[in-house]
Amino acid sequence: NPRLAADGLTFRYDAGTPLIEGWAAEFAAGEVVAVTGPSGRGKSTMLYLLGLMLRPTAGRVLVDGEPFHGRADADRARLRAARFGFVFQDAALDHSRTVLDNILESTLYRRGDRRADTERAHRLMDRFGVGLRANAKPGQVSGGQAQRIALCRALLGDPDIVLADEPTGNLDPDSSDVVIDAFHERAAAGATVVVVTHDPALVQRCDRNIRL
Ligand code: ADP
Ligand code: ADP
Repeated sequence: NPRLAADGLTFRYDAGTPLIEGWAAEFAAGEVVAVTGPSGRGKSTMLYLLGLMLRPTAGRVLVDGEPFHGRADADRARLRAARFGFVFQDAALDHSRTVLDNILESTLYRRGDRRADTERAHRLMDRFGVGLRANAKPGQVSGGQAQRIALCRALLGDPDIVLADEPTGNLDPDSSDVVIDAFHERAAAGATVVVVTHDPALVQRCDRNIRL
């Protein structure tokens, strides 16, 4: 079974023509896949569907061949926390908490060792060049830093499904390379990585490209 699959996926926000209709795709363990397409085409929506955050109008999302949309919300939340790392387009950090606490938030639903998680968070922050911002509030960091902090949060739990929405949109080429390297590292460890992007350099470094 592919790690993640969309099977006849159809979605509409309200009455009218579906934004996504009968979409099928498979994402294997070990690959980094770019999803491209014109603005407004439904790329972010598709990522929310794959991330089990939106319920499809019809069709299914399968994780290791198993459909999860029928499950109780708590089951889906548990699955998401254990296996998914999601990078929102606007970073979506909690402005009332520090950068470090934002990153650690992704571990709240896992039984983990807080001290080990904190050490790992610091290593990730250093790697992404935001190590000095651990105690800042998200309102005090730049857009590019917020994006890299969101990446740390998504990657902290070693998710085997990484879904990233324009993760390099605010980054310079060097920082983008660090991000892409991290995605390939996750894939080499058995994850599947799906990246919505407009960045040609990023598309170039993905294993394949799905155009919507
Ligand atoms: P893309 O990521 O390709 O730019 P989106 O998935 O963000 O596309 O949006 C696709 C379309 O769906 C857009 O026309 C957008 O306005 C619409 N849309 C997005 N979110 C909502 C929502 N919550 N309610 C209604 N329409 C939405
Ligand atoms: P980046 O490459 O991360 O986007 P910038 O050139 O935008 O960096 O920002 C440079 C520095 O200015 C950052 O280290 C950040 O701390 C600070 N900075 C940028 N934007 C803001 C902001 N909106 N509020 C506070 N500090 C900011």
